[in-house]
Amino acid sequence: MCGIIGYLGNHEATPLLLDGLKSLEYRGYDSAGIAVLDRTSGLTSTTKSESKVALLTARLQDCMPKGRLGIGHTRWATHGKPSLVNAHPHTDCGGRIVVVHNGIIENFRELRDELVSRGHIFVSETDSEVIPHLIEDASGEDLLTAVRGALKRITGAYALGIMSRDEPDLLIGARMNAPLVLGMCQDEFFLASDITAVIPHTKKVLILGEGEIVAVTPMGPEVTTLDGAPVAPKIIHVDWDVSQAQKGGFSHFMLKEIHEAPDAVANALRGRLLPDGNVNLQGCDLTDADLRGFQNVLLLGMGTSMHAALVGEHVIEDWAGIPAQAADASEFRYRRPTIGPETLTVVLTQSGETADTIVGLRQAKALGSYTMAVTNVVASTAARDSDAALYLNAGPEIGVASSKTFVSHVVNLYLLAARLASAHGRMPIERKQELSQALRELPEGLRAVLGREAEIADLARRYARFRNFLFVGRGINHAIALEGALKLKEISYVHAEGTSAGALKHGPIALLDQDFPVVAICTDGATRDKMASNVHEVAARGAPVLALVTQGEHHLDDVTTDRIEIPACDEAAVAILNTVVLQLFAYHVAVELGRDVDQPRNLAKSVTVE
Ligand code: GLU
Repeated sequence: MCGIIGYLGNHEATPLLLDGLKSLEYRGYDSAGIAVLDRTSGLTSTTKSESKVALLTARLQDCMPKGRLGIGHTRWATHGKPSLVNAHPHTDCGGRIVVVHNGIIENFRELRDELVSRGHIFVSETDSEVIPHLIEDASGEDLLTAVRGALKRITGAYALGIMSRDEPDLLIGARMNAPLVLGMCQDEFFLASDITAVIPHTKKVLILGEGEIVAVTPMGPEVTTLDGAPVAPKIIHVDWDVSQAQKGGFSHFMLKEIHEAPDAVANALRGRLLPDGNVNLQGCDLTDADLRGFQNVLLLGMGTSMHAALVGEHVIEDWAGIPAQAADASEFRYRRPTIGPETLTVVLTQSGETADTIVGLRQAKALGSYTMAVTNVVASTAARDSDAALYLNAGPEIGVASSKTFVSHVVNLYLLAARLASAHGRMPIERKQELSQALRELPEGLRAVLGREAEIADLARRYARFRNFLFVGRGINHAIALEGALKLKEISYVHAEGTSAGALKHGPIALLDQDFPVVAICTDGATRDKMASNVHEVAARGAPVLALVTQGEHHLDDVTTDRIEIPACDEAAVAILNTVVLQLFAYHVAVELGRDVDQPRNLAKSVTVE
């Protein structure tokens, strides 16, 4: 999410900040802005653009502030629409303290109310603006001490660039659950969200750790904890080029984004999954009574989002005990749907602009249904046109084939299902706690699965010679099988079908022979034994079977050709682990076949025509 940049040195900051923002723009481009401490006036001069960095550059063309300390930001909005007033940097009431922020402040509402009651004046809708005001609140303290005090009050995720006109030789960076690095040259320093922005200047990079603050002066950087304890700086030498750096060192954006799944889950849960296991759906102020008023749920999506909708259908019905139906939005518009005010319509679209889904949304609205968009893009058409919006907060997804945003959609639907179940009195406290623990542990489980990429890549290379695949699963994993097949089709151009394992005998099994492998999702869950029978059936037809099985389970060893072990955990969490394994599998088949993974032929990231 978003790019931040900071500069302290002997050169003019403005052009360097603009260059840095340009190279960070791939991380977000809702708006941009810089603040420079002007050496003639001694004031901070702030310039913003309500769109891309190019507009900011144009605005600065004839009036470049002259100064050697500055910070900049290119925004991926999470709180407050993309607009000039919400663009960073943000300042305190006195305009002395200037802050750029990447991340989400979970407790910003409480902090903002408290600060307002003490007379602070806020101008934006962002969560970020509480930070300069909190720092200002510690008046009398030096900047570093005040920053430490402010950060101790904040929960959530942040990477920050901070400066004050009272301390013209100090640039502060801080980090918690969001990346931040410091490029170090002889006599100048570049603070940045990632290495992309610093490598044109230096290969010597300080990687800031979680919960650390770096105070940069002309003497050099000093790293401490929030409590002020000194930390030995972690300095590395990088030899990436800019395009490698944008991909975080991965060969493709898609691979980077698959590896961002743990962060996508953490961001989806941030501030929504409360310590007691209850769910707060930020962005949707429906009360329990409102939620009880819904007698059914309709979920609309296309492609990968439609598969997320199928997961939603399953868990809403299972957990909340109310009828739920996933529908292909492009078909929905030609039906005569029998929905009304008793229906909650949930539309799933990463971009918030998917034409078919928007039409479905409008149709549902016209029928009096309450509409909720689950989308990655703040203030997108879907978000604006719906009664409520749940944001994925997954950061930009550049690979055309969705990966981390599918994971994020599914986690959001779990939260929605749990909230509905709670309101309907159908989720016992034990189940609530079990689920919330499973979701909290999910990022760790995902890291374990991602750590086994080499093994999955090896399998993918061996299976890349097949021209057809059948993906099968049951329950939630039926939707995951459909998504696994779609991922393979999209990026490798290999024919793949997904089906419920139960449907095998009703047709698809006729396709199978030794050249038609089956990818079978056999992880633990309510349908484990039924899946085992289906695997025996396909193996008896000579089809190679690649099975996803629970770690330590060997009941299918004699009938499967290959196996990938998935850590044991709650069924809902396992479905997400399975997803990521299948994403990696598709990715490595595509690479083996030499495909253009990030921009597969005939596809576009956001389908804005019907
Ligand atoms: N939450 C902040 C906002 O919406 C920062 C988002 C970002 O990382 O760009 O302004």
